[in-house]
Amino acid sequence: MDLAGHPLQLRLRAWRAGRIRDPVARLRYLRIAGGLPLFFEDPPRAARHSARQIAAAMVLLLVFAGKIGDARWEAPAEPPRPTPPVAPVGGSGSRVWFVERRGNWETYSNGLYVDVSYQTAGEPRLYPIFDPESLEIKAWGHQPVGIVFHSTESQLAPFEPRHTRQLLRLGTNLLEYLRRNRVYHYLIDRFGRVYRVVQDEHVAHHAGYSVWKDQAALYINLNGSFIGIAFEARTGDELSQPETTEAQLRAARLLVEMLRSRYGIPAQNCVTHAQVSVNPRSLRVGNHLDWADGLPYRELGLPDNYRIASPAVALFGFHYDPVTVERSRSGFAECIRLGRSEMERRARAAGLTAEQYAARMRQRYQEILRWLGQRNLNRETRYEFET
Ligand SMILES: [Zn+2]
Repeated sequence: MDLAGHPLQLRLRAWRAGRIRDPVARLRYLRIAGGLPLFFEDPPRAARHSARQIAAAMVLLLVFAGKIGDARWEAPAEPPRPTPPVAPVGGSGSRVWFVERRGNWETYSNGLYVDVSYQTAGEPRLYPIFDPESLEIKAWGHQPVGIVFHSTESQLAPFEPRHTRQLLRLGTNLLEYLRRNRVYHYLIDRFGRVYRVVQDEHVAHHAGYSVWKDQAALYINLNGSFIGIAFEARTGDELSQPETTEAQLRAARLLVEMLRSRYGIPAQNCVTHAQVSVNPRSLRVGNHLDWADGLPYRELGLPDNYRIASPAVALFGFHYDPVTVERSRSGFAECIRLGRSEMERRARAAGLTAEQYAARMRQRYQEILRWLGQRNLNRETRYEFET
């Protein structure tokens, strides 16, 4: 059935087109509405359109969006019943607000300063929001909904007064590299200074192949949907957590507070790179292992999010090394153990063994990834520092 030709759809289309003042935008809308949405063909380009066009395209996407509930995950082709979009982000009010900008410094009402002298632009955000149960695409988002914490794993100098010049030089070199390659949205240097690298509303390279979910939604490949915050820090050989300075933790708390307030980011969507990172070829979790353990969640004003089940394991049956996970007490291992339990529950409910269920769900993940790949939404850019 072709819903696009349905009289109701035609009336809706004509009404919407009539409301678009700009003739070029109107034409583009009619092209979108008349056939396969342009939005699907090249989302990053479409993201440069106006908010009204994005809204119109989102309505259409709801009509065109595919269904994943059955044996194979099908690319969106047949129009299913429209599903309501998820509530817009930004629910927690304006507890922290922007105060002023002087020169290259932004001031916020909670005492946060952000240095924007290295700020650069990327591509506008645009990402699919999946239903965590049906795996349907239920909407497209263009605002950040979470935070991924990183450590740069770059070269460090001892944190002592006599090394100040070297500490400054290393920080500057790092920032220049990050800006050139559009890596992370924020860097917190060793003196606790917060730098914005890629502007919030744009995509930065920081968590290409990754999976996370909250109560309402599942996110795959978080470069588009999450904000990347990196500590200038390095994980020692014997440690599973990077060493940070007091100043960095104080600054991180203020930055998290501001971002959560500005975008209504739920606490459970503030997690570490190790918790979200996956390898799409080996289908193993923990492709990157920065902050596998020891992120001081409480000091950042967050609950201990190491106690959230890994969605990659729970929903998609990702592999992991069972011996390492059983022996380890790290936050990452806890995340995997909880994911395994949830996956076993899901398998029982489906009347399958855990192995059968995991194999089936891994296949679904690969089908979704292929679909994203065809739309250029699954890029991961390697950069030289991180583990
Ligand atoms: Zn990372």
